[in-house]
Amino acid sequence: MEFAQITHPAPVPGETRAQAIADPGFGNVFTDHMVTIDYHADRGWHDARIGPREPLVLDPACAVLHYAQEIFEGLKAYRHPDGSFALFRPHVNAARMNASADRLAMPHIPEDLFVEACRQIVLKDRDWFPTVDGGSLYLRPFMFASEAFLGVRPAREYKFLVIASPVGNYFKSGVPAVSIWVSRDFVRAAPGGTGAAKTGGNYAASLVPQAEAIAKGHDQVVFLDAVERKWIEELGGMNLFFAFADGTVVTPPLTGTILPGVTRNSLIQLLRDEGLTIREERYSIDQWRRDAESGHLLETMACGTAAVVTPVGKVEGPEGSFTIGSGGPGQLTGKLRERLVAIQRGQAPDPHGWVMKL
Ligand SMILES: *Cc1c(COP(=O)(O)O)cnc(C)c1O
Repeated sequence: MEFAQITHPAPVPGETRAQAIADPGFGNVFTDHMVTIDYHADRGWHDARIGPREPLVLDPACAVLHYAQEIFEGLKAYRHPDGSFALFRPHVNAARMNASADRLAMPHIPEDLFVEACRQIVLKDRDWFPTVDGGSLYLRPFMFASEAFLGVRPAREYKFLVIASPVGNYFKSGVPAVSIWVSRDFVRAAPGGTGAAKTGGNYAASLVPQAEAIAKGHDQVVFLDAVERKWIEELGGMNLFFAFADGTVVTPPLTGTILPGVTRNSLIQLLRDEGLTIREERYSIDQWRRDAESGHLLETMACGTAAVVTPVGKVEGPEGSFTIGSGGPGQLTGKLRERLVAIQRGQAPDPHGWVMKL
């Protein structure tokens, strides 16, 4: 599919842009352009275009506003030492978007079209690449039901868009260990629900428990399983790994209530490369506390595209608080983070073919 190129009549002035990309923070600044592709049940995907980023005009009966038929993705473009641009495993994001689409009764987008849309916006808005050390261009592809109707059924019309945001390091000064609150009253996902789909509704449901975590003085909330309220699932937007003194690492299995992170999948591979034993198995909140207190558990890390790999230092659970290791960043966490970032930024060999040069 050809992308129509629509010239921006009034892009952000160079000086304003230079200021914005010097210290963009996370998710505050957006580039000049966006990709839009339309879908109609009778026509399929059509009218791919890249043009000015601008407000959308939606009918008030637009299906997404009422029944939340929406899915999204998140991936970063990196600048390599030779000045070129690269994406990290974009086809995995494309495949995951289609898995999310299946759960939300939405149409698939061809994987190559998804990746091409990402490529188009990175190249179009290359001048928006952050100048801050460790910066990248965060891409947000998303799809929503755009048909105007109030009956409950899958929509017949959708829009797929990609917007881009220059981002600095998620954490400003190094990688502090985060403090975590175990949600007691709320769950994120139930068996048979939408926990494995990247859909806005999961986030909407996580805002109250996340606010509760902040109110209790923590950074993030961790969710337990909905049935027994005992097995650790994930944070609101990051997967978890537990590293033990005997050299094994555990991460909760993908049983349908956990989001299958690209970072999670990549870390499993990097851990195997290190010769460590990684097990995808259930791990309970009680065991977590016991292992932290006995010293058998050395580290806990949270991972996702935005913050990469982040150490968990403290946990407040139903039976009280406990500290992981020294409470600060652990060795394996730091090593994995460096290895992954070096591959993404083209500073280390890419033995698994994860990097796609643009
Ligand atoms: C996106 C997301 C993750 C992390 O996935 P990555 O592909 O590693 O960025 C983890 N949990 C939830 C709920 C998410 O939405």
